[in-house]
Amino acid sequence: MTPHDVLIHLPDHVVAEAKSLDAADPLAAYREQFVLPDGVVAYLDGNSLGRPLSVTRDRLGRFVEDDWGERLIRAWDETWMDQPLQLGDRIGRIALGAAEGQTTVADSTTVLLYKLVRAAVGARPGRTRIVADTENFPTDRYIVQGVAAELDLTIDWIEPDPATGVTVDEVRETVSDDTALVLLSHIAYKSAFIADLPAITEVVHDAGALVLWDLCHSVGLTPIDLDAAGVDLAVGCTYKYLNGGPGAPAFGYVAKSLQDKLVQPINGWMGHAEPFTMGPSYTPADGMRRFISGTPPILGMLPMQDMLDLVEQAGVETIREKSIRLTEFVVDVADEVFAPLGVTVASPRDPAVRGGHVTLEHDAMQDAIAQLWQRGVIPDFRRPRGLRAGMSPLSTSFVEVATALAHLHEILTD
Ligand SMILES: *Cc1c(COP(=O)(O)O)cnc(C)c1O
Repeated sequence: MTPHDVLIHLPDHVVAEAKSLDAADPLAAYREQFVLPDGVVAYLDGNSLGRPLSVTRDRLGRFVEDDWGERLIRAWDETWMDQPLQLGDRIGRIALGAAEGQTTVADSTTVLLYKLVRAAVGARPGRTRIVADTENFPTDRYIVQGVAAELDLTIDWIEPDPATGVTVDEVRETVSDDTALVLLSHIAYKSAFIADLPAITEVVHDAGALVLWDLCHSVGLTPIDLDAAGVDLAVGCTYKYLNGGPGAPAFGYVAKSLQDKLVQPINGWMGHAEPFTMGPSYTPADGMRRFISGTPPILGMLPMQDMLDLVEQAGVETIREKSIRLTEFVVDVADEVFAPLGVTVASPRDPAVRGGHVTLEHDAMQDAIAQLWQRGVIPDFRRPRGLRAGMSPLSTSFVEVATALAHLHEILTD
């Protein structure tokens, strides 16, 4: 069966709608710049691992020949030492609303979260509580639990509605004079709910606490204005909507005014004020460099640079507009075609508070997804009964989404 034959499993007007949305899409041409193997019929997991760009092959090849192959160790002085901060600034400018000198690329999201959570609570001595939420990504919850155990702190857990997410009121009711830090995701990894970042930041500051935003599911997808909102700290993944490739290092943001007040817990030589004096004890560098620990993962910083080029060209605002149309399309098809089969939408219906993915739930979903994967249709499975359709706007077409939904319909009605 060719991929498009399967579209007969959707109503004609839905297929026509997908085609006309593609025809009217100002970003449609970007899709051709990604590696698109025939074996992948539809990819709905760009929010988990973005697709590679074709030009990344050349970038990696040139790196082996030139930067690494020829410049060798000289490249540390020439470019690599500054790479984490320069790339951080670029992410900040294109995707975070962050002025220079506040963002660095460093470790995994998990390790950076630990470093910044630990540094933040250290900067609020006497305050003994951390606020987090039960619907946040596991690593975020585990890190907070680990730091709380390490320092004998108490966690105040917000239990948000799983189909939406943490509200401003919930945060207001939970913070107190004892709160050192509030850790939240900007876009919820399960429901895709978009938290009100500016309003929550203000509520946290009114309580005298610091806020750390996890931007894993929002960076590169939707406009973010960290400086304007007065955010203290943020971290985010680069292998999701920034297409940095598996295990690409995360970025961390620390507001300028806080940098010299924070002490991060992994005192490595690369965060030292003078790494090459190799002195007897640790003196943190000024500014963002102190949040680096060991040798920066230069190789892992290569692919995301190609995606940043595209995000910059396309503009995050335009990317967000397409994202809304993509998720709207899924919600509309779910209501018309899948609701009669017992499928429910477990993501916000209001596009203003919905990020880049839509979770559809059904008891047969785990089985259906196993069959979809065999057909080269790749969404994500979220226990116990969720299909997460994540649509990276620059690499996903509407007909691609329709094709995935047609396969799902065929499987669920089989
Ligand atoms: C994807 C994701 C992570 C991943 O952390 P890693 O250290 O890169 O594995 C962390 N937090 C959130 C909210 C995520 O969505």
